[in-house]
Amino acid sequence: MKGSPLKRGTKDWDRFWSKVKKGPGCWVWQACLRSGYGQFSIGRKMIATHRLVWEMGHGSIPKGMCICHHCDNRKCVRPSHLFIGTSRDNLLDSLDKNLRKRVKLTNEQVLAIRKDTRRISNIGREYDVDNTTIYRIKNRTRWSHVKEEVT
Ligand SMILES: [Zn+2]
Repeated sequence: MKGSPLKRGTKDWDRFWSKVKKGPGCWVWQACLRSGYGQFSIGRKMIATHRLVWEMGHGSIPKGMCICHHCDNRKCVRPSHLFIGTSRDNLLDSLDKNLRKRVKLTNEQVLAIRKDTRRISNIGREYDVDNTTIYRIKNRTRWSHVKEEVT
């Protein structure tokens, strides 16, 4: 099949976007998930939402390629957060992101980031870490072991 099975102006299109919550960063899929990825049914087929969205803008995904998330948020369907790669690229990308997350920040920096009131993207640029990491630090889903009362 050429292009995305999801076409602008159809009922499926409206149904698809009604299940997406568009935030300032990620656009988060609110409905059915499989392995953490959004799923959407067209006809009888269940299709991964991030793949559908990428195909809308770029046409069919070549065999053996996968669609990756810059933001590491599997539920995200924001076109600008998606990129195409091989499964090897995907693996290297996530390894790279994990490494960066692990090694880059000191406890002092984590505390400073929590207090920082600037936009997440500005903070991320300053510390050279991705926005998701900053977001997670602020929400204490990462580095939750770092406490304010550090001595
Ligand atoms: Zn995203």
